[in-house]
Amino acid sequence: MAAGIESPTRWSTIRKDVRSLAVLPNLVDYDEACRTFTWDSARRELTGLPGGGVNIAFEAAHRHAVGERAEREALRFVRADGTTHSLTYRGLSEEANRFASVLRSLGIGRGDRVFSLAGRIPSLYVAMMGTLTNASVFCPLFSAFGPDPIRQRLQLGTGRVLVTTRALYRKKVAPIRSALPELRHVFLVDAEGAPEPDTLDLTALLRDAEPYGPVAETQREDMALLHFTSGTTGTPKGAIHVHDAVAAHLATGRFALDLHPDDIYWCTADPGWVTGTSYGVIAPLVHGVTSIVDEEELDAERWYRILAEQRVSVWYTAPTALRMLMKAGAPLAHEHDLSALRFVASVGEPLNPEVVVWGTEAFGLPVHDNWWQTETGGIMIANYAATEIRPGSMGRPLPGVQAALVRRDDEDRPVMLDGEAELVTEPGTVGELALRPGWPSMFRGYLNEEERYRRCFVGGWYLTGDLATRDADGYYWFVGRGDDVIKSSGHLIGPFEVESCLLEHEAVAEAGVIGIPDPVAGALVKAFVELRPGREPSDALRLDIIGFARKRLGPAIAPRELDFVESLPKTRSGKILRRLLKARELGLPEGDTSTVEGSR
Ligand code: AMP
Repeated sequence: MAAGIESPTRWSTIRKDVRSLAVLPNLVDYDEACRTFTWDSARRELTGLPGGGVNIAFEAAHRHAVGERAEREALRFVRADGTTHSLTYRGLSEEANRFASVLRSLGIGRGDRVFSLAGRIPSLYVAMMGTLTNASVFCPLFSAFGPDPIRQRLQLGTGRVLVTTRALYRKKVAPIRSALPELRHVFLVDAEGAPEPDTLDLTALLRDAEPYGPVAETQREDMALLHFTSGTTGTPKGAIHVHDAVAAHLATGRFALDLHPDDIYWCTADPGWVTGTSYGVIAPLVHGVTSIVDEEELDAERWYRILAEQRVSVWYTAPTALRMLMKAGAPLAHEHDLSALRFVASVGEPLNPEVVVWGTEAFGLPVHDNWWQTETGGIMIANYAATEIRPGSMGRPLPGVQAALVRRDDEDRPVMLDGEAELVTEPGTVGELALRPGWPSMFRGYLNEEERYRRCFVGGWYLTGDLATRDADGYYWFVGRGDDVIKSSGHLIGPFEVESCLLEHEAVAEAGVIGIPDPVAGALVKAFVELRPGREPSDALRLDIIGFARKRLGPAIAPRELDFVESLPKTRSGKILRRLLKARELGLPEGDTSTVEGSR
């Protein structure tokens, strides 16, 4: 047990004695910070472009390339065999300049979208910084996506350039290339010596490019990043983020992750998702710390070895990962020297109180849960290094963030009073988590979907789609999603995307997709399928449909389980009632079924 932390039980508050923590936290007086902090003060701490304006890549990489941080490791990559290779701040800045110059030479400019589809390899980070340096827009895709989600996102986002590997290109992009007429260039990071038709060799292009060059002038509201996220209906939504977001990455890195200049920091999220970009790339670089990047996947023994050997001091991970480590047992943690570790945080799904407390046994530190989503671009609610933890609570709003709970009516719509959303004020009562717009990393739109964006804002609040309660001291407690979106291993999955794919199987007439609880992944995707006339359910057909979905959607999205049903419950207007499917599957009360087709 670390000094300054009491031995807790599942439900007890974990109090901290600030004086005996290893490092004095950045945020000691929460109430005072909430009173005095402004986003403008965070903006003023940025260096800003020499000619005015702000650019994420300048704050994250280029400004550190001169001066005392220049030779510090910005990114330290851990290979499969445990050896490492690094990019210094100067090296990252030079590579990013080369990448920007390659884009320029190909006529890719301001606002053009550059996509990536790659594992956590150096080129991904260089491409991100280089794209932003060039005032182009970066859109990372998760490398475990199958060809369908890749094609759809490249089409929706009008991808002009794709950075990927030879293997991913051959397997997932070449078969859909003809459906992507807007995609002008594919850069392969590992094509040296053996060209692939219709692609460019990125290594050769970078070698010939200039390592110095101007950072394109971008303003606060210029689009910088595009992150696709899933909704309940329709296509994935492209959440637009702007260069102003970097002020939030700076402030939240300081308050919620407690980053100090000498930290060795490890964010385990993949940059294919927003956490891996905001906090796996931007926030740590803005703070000038050294970031660890593991090129491999989760493995308990490997992760402990990385924590120990790389002397990680601040670790940002996810509930699914922590639950897997918990399954492997605390003794495995004790076999490793975790003495450098001083702060552990988690995001992405509900964090069980058991896991928070287990952290004190395994690492000698509790786990600090925090909450945010693709649309918020940065951490909004958090447990802080200096303040007490109530296991099971997401914590309290960041300084500068105004959160509230909006009351919902029986049809899950916000209750309005004189044009204002009615707020839940009684402690312990459920409402929809809402945020007052105005923080720098707030999304500025859903690409080409103005109406969908507008609907997120009601009576002066941004509605998050999550249900929560608040206790008398202002701590927020997650209750559940207000919609049918599924969180599995930290990945947000839109049931509609999965259902649409299943409908393309020749035997499937209708499909309904829900999340079912899983002790490690949080939820697993389960499909209910109505077959076409003349088709009979069988185990072989079940496997065939699951295999079909895996091939197209990739293993991260495809259903794990599939049941055949005679008919799916639907509303009178024909919408599949996923909530009812879920209630039946879990043996829960079915609630109001008056709108169900065939009911009275
Ligand atoms: P994404 O946009 O993929 O980052 O997913 C955001 C969603 O993940 C949120 O709207 C929540 O439903 C869920 N989420 C994120 N953090 C937490 C947390 N600390 N506790 C519970 N759910 C969370």
